[in-house]
Amino acid sequence: MKIVFIGSPGSGKGTQARMLASELEIPFISAGDIIRGEINSGTEFGCRALKYTKNGELVPDEIIAEMLLASLPRSFVLDGFPRNISQAILLERTEPDCVFYLYLGISDIVERISKRRICPNCKRVYNLISNPPKTPCICDECGGELISRIDDTEKTARKRMDVYKRETYPLVDYYRKRKMLIEVDGSGSVEDVHHRIMRAVEEIKCKSSC
Ligand SMILES: [Zn+2]
Repeated sequence: MKIVFIGSPGSGKGTQARMLASELEIPFISAGDIIRGEINSGTEFGCRALKYTKNGELVPDEIIAEMLLASLPRSFVLDGFPRNISQAILLERTEPDCVFYLYLGISDIVERISKRRICPNCKRVYNLISNPPKTPCICDECGGELISRIDDTEKTARKRMDVYKRETYPLVDYYRKRKMLIEVDGSGSVEDVHHRIMRAVEEIKCKSSC
């Protein structure tokens, strides 16, 4: 299966994509990790991408897509790509089976973002719901005491909502029109959302075998 994840800010889609991949025993692919990996190991694609980032420019969608498509296995759960329509069109080449869209209401989005905690020492970011530290209030990385940046919360929420409206929403529309979109309520615990996703997967499997 080729599964793509998109979602509202704070929907925990990365966590959910990873859980689904491990449940289905297929590779979890983080677009960001692949791109960083290509750049760090100095591959041909990586060097081309680096030319843009060095000049403070965005890496063109074609180069990102080329890097990613070259390394996608036959089955995958993909997170972090596509981020816009032109990337979605490039991804069509892999013929994805379905796109999970984790949605949250505005009040949930603000609440999730308010559950963000940051380590003042190493700057690692946590989320009490989707990505909690192993010991409450303590950074896994360096043992620092986690803090919340209250003043940041509203600004962050607004900024992420802007990106969501500008980038994610057109994608939702794009996949809905192509009847590829599976909309899943992203509220509740990580386990609640995972169960909803697994139910949807069972339905797809059932439909395709009928
Ligand atoms: Zn830390």
